Amino acid sequence: MNGNHAGWLDRARRIASPNFGSRPSAERPSLVVLHSISLPPGVYGGDAIERLFTNRLDPRAHPYFEALEGLQVSAHFLVRRDGELLQFVSCLDRAWHAGRSSFQGRDNCNDYSIGIELEGLEGERFEPAQYEALAGLLLALREIYPIAAVVGHEHVAPGRKVDPGPGFAWGELLARLAWPGTMFPFLSSATDARDARDIP
Ligand SMILES: [Zn+2]
Repeated sequence: MNGNHAGWLDRARRIASPNFGSRPSAERPSLVVLHSISLPPGVYGGDAIERLFTNRLDPRAHPYFEALEGLQVSAHFLVRRDGELLQFVSCLDRAWHAGRSSFQGRDNCNDYSIGIELEGLEGERFEPAQYEALAGLLLALREIYPIAAVVGHEHVAPGRKVDPGPGFAWGELLARLAWPGTMFPFLSSATDARDARDIP
């Protein structure tokens, strides 16, 4: 059962972010954009990500944070290294995660997507608990919203973004979802998810 009230999932710990807006014409999300983030990069387990998404990050707490001062960003969800799920923005609203982006000829992915951050670093591996939690989240979202595709930030903002990066094993995710390969348009052998276990 997937409790879902006004776009908030019961299964996620809720930390409301002020960084969101309305979706145009109350559009229902049809795309999922996967990201990776860690603050500072490569350091896991602290509260800096939730502080960033709620505009409470102290720019003096770490040299890397200075450049983030005044940045107003958010994602709908964060999957921590241990698989814990946090939600910052209602799926009915528009989170600020993808920036300048385009998918299948349509710009501004934030308008029609759900953004999911994985705690991690581009090029590094992710935890089995994260694939497990992400798969469960995607299954729950697809029961509620007309999700038609799952992509990486690197796919919708090429040349500008590289996350979640080569350390993210798409095959690990696909192996947990009996979804058609057409749901993953940027994977090379997109025929059927059951054949995708060995995609690097
Ligand atoms: Zn990203």
